[in-house]
Amino acid sequence: MGLFSKTIRTLGPWGGYQLARQICRTQPRILMYHRFSNPPVKDWASPKYFEQQVRHIKENYNSFSLVGLMQYKREHGHMPRHAVVITVDDGYRDFYHYAYPILRKYQVPATLFVTTGFIDRRLWLWPDKITWLLSQVDRIPEAIKIGSFRSGAGEVNFETRPLYWKQWIHHALSLPDVEKHFFIDQLASGLGKTFPDSIPPEFEPVNWLELSEMQDNGIEIGGHTVTHPSLGRVTKSQAREEIFGCRDALNARLGGRCRTFCYPNGQPSDFRDFLPGLVQEAGFLGAVTAFPDAFGTREPMLMRRHVSGDDMFQFFKSVSGVELIGLRLRKEVRMGLSGAVSGYAG
Ligand SMILES: [Zn+2]
Repeated sequence: MGLFSKTIRTLGPWGGYQLARQICRTQPRILMYHRFSNPPVKDWASPKYFEQQVRHIKENYNSFSLVGLMQYKREHGHMPRHAVVITVDDGYRDFYHYAYPILRKYQVPATLFVTTGFIDRRLWLWPDKITWLLSQVDRIPEAIKIGSFRSGAGEVNFETRPLYWKQWIHHALSLPDVEKHFFIDQLASGLGKTFPDSIPPEFEPVNWLELSEMQDNGIEIGGHTVTHPSLGRVTKSQAREEIFGCRDALNARLGGRCRTFCYPNGQPSDFRDFLPGLVQEAGFLGAVTAFPDAFGTREPMLMRRHVSGDDMFQFFKSVSGVELIGLRLRKEVRMGLSGAVSGYAG
């Protein structure tokens, strides 16, 4: 743990978080969640901690959906004070079961970014295929060779499974989208497995009816492409289809309205210069990455997000602005488009 983290862990509860909240009062923080479960699963959020977090946000901040935040900015010409946005990616069913009832109880809005082909049950989210494959085997009998990719033989257990998972996902992410699907199919046939026709329950999406109900109760349903490719690994015309196709599906099923967008995977390597323009052209009012840096919310089509989950220390760092202040002190910029870089002054 760095000196900054150590200092915050000590001083945070003694006024450090309140101080950060005050310093960052005009800089909205956008929190990022993925999956929810009960009982808790590592790196997921559980209802127990999520409820504490939602209550804390309700009592200390002004909560917005992302589209609500952008509309406020349009109307007033500036961001609201002490604004916090809860965002959740992908559109898994667990959001509807565990997170939505809590958000509803406290009347806290949020944004759920959904992959429309997944909601239509036309596809699994591809990382889940790798998770599923690794759940089906307890050993890799011989080394896997696919093109330049090599993965060693060995036991698959609770220690090695995450290592295999990381290595396979990492390789898949480095490939153009078409090759990625081929690679995953090769992995399956190498292990002698066939993917089930329907999505297994642990990877299931919410349905359109549930999305419609949530949209009527304070949850923005935002865009997250049609098939969840890295938009840094597809052609410009494919990117256009993913962004516009997602918008059209959302508007057809849930009614036309303003929405925001989330780039799949959302790391610097998942971006190309033309993407923010396409997202804007499709009519989305804002868009988010999956990492934080010193830019914060300065660039509406590339707003940064802070991780949250069951780790309450990470939550307080994210929500209070402590993490943002740390990134600004270190002038940490992970990605900047030309315009954004020149507009950034410290
Ligand atoms: Zn995603």
